[in-house]
Amino acid sequence: MNRERSRDLYDRALSVLPGGVNSSVRAAPQPYPTFVERGDGGHVIDADGNRLVDWVMGLGPMLLGHDMPEPVQAAVQSRASEGPMYGMPTEIEVEHAEFVCRHVPSVEMLRFVNSGTEATVSAVRLARGITGRNKIVVMQGGYHGAQESTLVEGDADHHRPSTNGIPQSFAKHTLPVPFNDEEAMQEVFAEHGDDIAGVLIEPVQANMGIVTPEAGYHEAVADLCEGHGALLIWDEVITGFRVGGLQCAQGKYDIDPDITTFGKIIGGGYPVGAIGGKTEYIEQFTPSGDVFQAGTFSGHPVTMAAGLETLRYCAENDVYDHVNDLGRQLREGLTDIVADQAPAYTVTGLDSMFKVIFTRADGPSQSECCANGCRQDPSCDRYDSCPKRGTDTDEAATDRYARIFRPRMLDEGVLVSQNQYETNFVSHGHTEDDVERTLEAYKECL
Ligand code: PLP
Repeated sequence: MNRERSRDLYDRALSVLPGGVNSSVRAAPQPYPTFVERGDGGHVIDADGNRLVDWVMGLGPMLLGHDMPEPVQAAVQSRASEGPMYGMPTEIEVEHAEFVCRHVPSVEMLRFVNSGTEATVSAVRLARGITGRNKIVVMQGGYHGAQESTLVEGDADHHRPSTNGIPQSFAKHTLPVPFNDEEAMQEVFAEHGDDIAGVLIEPVQANMGIVTPEAGYHEAVADLCEGHGALLIWDEVITGFRVGGLQCAQGKYDIDPDITTFGKIIGGGYPVGAIGGKTEYIEQFTPSGDVFQAGTFSGHPVTMAAGLETLRYCAENDVYDHVNDLGRQLREGLTDIVADQAPAYTVTGLDSMFKVIFTRADGPSQSECCANGCRQDPSCDRYDSCPKRGTDTDEAATDRYARIFRPRMLDEGVLVSQNQYETNFVSHGHTEDDVERTLEAYKECL
């Protein structure tokens, strides 16, 4: 496959963009990133004219695929041509908020912002402002954006910033615990309960391979929060309007968080974030409350039009049936291939998310127990070998994924997640042919 232009563009980019990119993960692909020219349904055409099946899908926002359906396109174009933004309120912000409040069980009120990072920053400030407490509990291996309160590693007793540039005095307020570990959560509350403002948690750990919750885990976390007066903050930046359809993951798992952060799909492919929840909490943002929050571009009319029309399209068409069915076909097909060719690996995912984690698991083949990807089923013989927490993925064969598997998949015309940790996303633009081609490629490359 000719990739000269991607290579040359990366060469130029290295002179003017740090690491050649504007977001770190984009530089993960070896030996250099694929530069994209345009999208087409479930495919992208790269800068050298190669057509590739795309499972990166913008890192999640592109639920409908790369072609905006006619109503979405029309709304975006008319908003853009009417003057893109005003710094004053518009009706479309109200309509979008009404849609989200109508469909997401715990959300009564919403503040739109411009990224998932901004949403989690504001949610943490809100939880601290409401409770008057400083500490935030996060999951090891979780990701909530490029922000000071969550780029922290270690455990609840020994924690430090995970990047240069964050003072230890900030990190001391962040308590990382393992996902799916009720006991660790009980211990952190036993020790710090009176100081914990909130627990910030992804319903499904989607930035470390896709780790699904064990039965009862989220209920236990919710009970602990309630018992200690801490706020339960669900980060649905990835799962929002993808897992559980229009009700989001909180509808699927029947959990009622106090605060929810959104991003990605609610902006229909444009920069977005939002913080939603019960009125008594969200009203604490300025100007109705005392927790300062603001943004020049927040509620941007073009973004609002793209996001709202995307969600309306989902409500009126078979989007979730289609993407979830293809997700199931992929997980089923991959489970068989992995059983045959790489039995130590683990297929995970749910709804329209899928992943093969390059685990070094012992035990029987997954196809005997979890034919549609890992289900965290305790009666399964392989249960102990499947990832339970984000950090388990750290033990996986990351170099093999990055240096051998992914480049080979690219040669087969299939783009999978840019590193071992990120999720693959199915879109409405994908077809059964894409699934077949992808399964064939996995057969060749695993
Ligand atoms: N929260 C989660 C769960 C995410 O996956 C991400 C990004 O992928 C973020 C927050 C940050 O969102 P953004 O990249 O839009 O700032």
